[in-house]
Amino acid sequence: MSFESLNLNPSILKALTEAGYTQPTPIQAQAIPAAIEGRDLLASAQTGTGKTAAFMLPSLHRIATPSESRSRGPRVLVLTPTRELATQVNDAARKYGKFMRARTVSIVGGMPYPVQNKLLSQPVDILVATPGRLIDHMERGRIDFSRLEVLVLDEADRMLDMGFIDDVERIAAATPSTRQTLLFSATLDGVIGTLAERLLNNPQRIEV
Ligand code: AMP
Repeated sequence: MSFESLNLNPSILKALTEAGYTQPTPIQAQAIPAAIEGRDLLASAQTGTGKTAAFMLPSLHRIATPSESRSRGPRVLVLTPTRELATQVNDAARKYGKFMRARTVSIVGGMPYPVQNKLLSQPVDILVATPGRLIDHMERGRIDFSRLEVLVLDEADRMLDMGFIDDVERIAAATPSTRQTLLFSATLDGVIGTLAERLLNNPQRIEV
């Protein structure tokens, strides 16, 4: 299988060629077509399987088509448990979106608020954030989710282990119910199943 056969936007294919990727990993081969169709995803995948591109490529594909909304808020929101992971996801978004006009912003704890306020005062396409700091900005009225199309929960099991369940649910509740939701987790049992039932709509289940 090739990336071309997944019908991704040509500017994304160009970035993948430049990155030296020749074919999708198993999780990408399953996740990308379903996500492009608009399905919610409930995916179990460890780090190293190519899970970041599995959610980022279809998200970029979607935002390659301009939004009709006049809002300047994010069209894609990726929640991650840690700053380190947020940085990796942000770097991946820039790498795969290199030939697109997509503005990516990362909002994590431990960084100065004035810098983040400035980033959030400008239009943003992809917002990568840790839950606690994002809630802080939401409470201050700095986040407009009215044009949000895709919510990604990356390493959802770790977010729950770190006590972020209420924050994740609050953030999801602040986004449009028409959104697409992509949940990635090392395990899919227990509390993840309950969270998935609340946040996902008839998800395609993927296990690699
Ligand atoms: P991840 O599981 O998202 O942390 O990705 C693991 C590593 O695999 C990262 O360094 C990616 O750049 C790389 N990678 C992801 N997808 C592909 C692919 N289709 N072909 C080659 N490398 C890839």
